[in-house]
Amino acid sequence: MSEVRVEGLSKHYGAARALDDVTLTFPDGGFFGLLGPSGSGKTTLLRAIAGFVEPTAGGVFIGDRPVVDVPVEAREIGMVFQNYALFPNMSVADNVAFGLRVRGTARGEIDKRVGDALELVQLGPLGARRPHELSGGQRQRVAMARAIVTRPRVLLLDEPLSALDKALRVDMQIELKRIQREVGITTIFVTHDQEEALTLSDRIGILKGGRLIREGRPQEVYSDPGDVFTARFLGEANVIEGTGSGDWLDLPGARVARPEGATTIAVRPEHLSVTVDRPDGPNALQARLRQRIFAGAMGTCVLDWNGQMLKAVARHEEFSDLPESGPVWVSWAPRHARGLKAD
Ligand code: ADP
Ligand code: MG
Repeated sequence: MSEVRVEGLSKHYGAARALDDVTLTFPDGGFFGLLGPSGSGKTTLLRAIAGFVEPTAGGVFIGDRPVVDVPVEAREIGMVFQNYALFPNMSVADNVAFGLRVRGTARGEIDKRVGDALELVQLGPLGARRPHELSGGQRQRVAMARAIVTRPRVLLLDEPLSALDKALRVDMQIELKRIQREVGITTIFVTHDQEEALTLSDRIGILKGGRLIREGRPQEVYSDPGDVFTARFLGEANVIEGTGSGDWLDLPGARVARPEGATTIAVRPEHLSVTVDRPDGPNALQARLRQRIFAGAMGTCVLDWNGQMLKAVARHEEFSDLPESGPVWVSWAPRHARGLKAD
């Protein structure tokens, strides 16, 4: 097992900066979720760690060892990509054994390790099947078994679940986490699905335009996103801009408590209350209720505040006394307003 570290890592293609001066530590044995919109550099970062991409500048370290000059095969990395190509004409067991055969591992050792890897991904009895005789989820498990059978120091997963449908994806998320815990391997997981990243990761990093703009524990980044992009990218946020004066933020028709000298604040939908009567306390905006949406136990209110849409989410009983449309008050506890840097 090993910590992975990249330092000042850049990859430029002509004028395009796929990665731009990224410094980041992926803790030993941890599950690190790498998030960002399409084109933000996630795959390039994984490929640079694996050795498929030669950095324009900067270093990659596995353990304490610089690996920029170490070839792919010698980096001891296991990989699963979105389009995990299994060999169609080989059995499941032979697919899993492939990496060991290439390394010249002894026959008995191969059989044992392949058996263990297939047990781990709960495909023990299916070793003789061909890939086309498996479901999408089972093929994904074969790809996982193949990636870990060589006992790599690091596991790189590039959107491994995105080809699966939603229900299967959720099952596989649980599986993936179980496997990672059992093996205890340093894992870097790329996804564009923020919920998936929040569910699985011990830590997350957010890339935008090749730059790392945030890193931390999922809960920490969610509750204190720090900038407008992260607030909107990770979950939903009501972003409210005003003019600062002392402890207060002046908004059209209202004055609310101002965190840390900010002129832009974010309040999560689950922290907004919607009431017919004006609540006590300073943080109250007069708005119009535009829409109530009920989804199972939870409800969403869409509100129009001076032409800006705000969203409130709560158990649906909270909203049952509100008028269909009409004036309401939107409020929040001052501790739930987070100051944001502008983008
Ligand atoms: P992501 O995985 O986050 O979607 P990528 O790492 O694939 O993003 O790409 C980051 C940026 O680098 C994109 O703008 C992409 O077009 C560019 N890029 C990636 N690989 C190459 C390449 N081989 N040649 C030129 N541009 C590339
Ligand atoms: Mg990608």
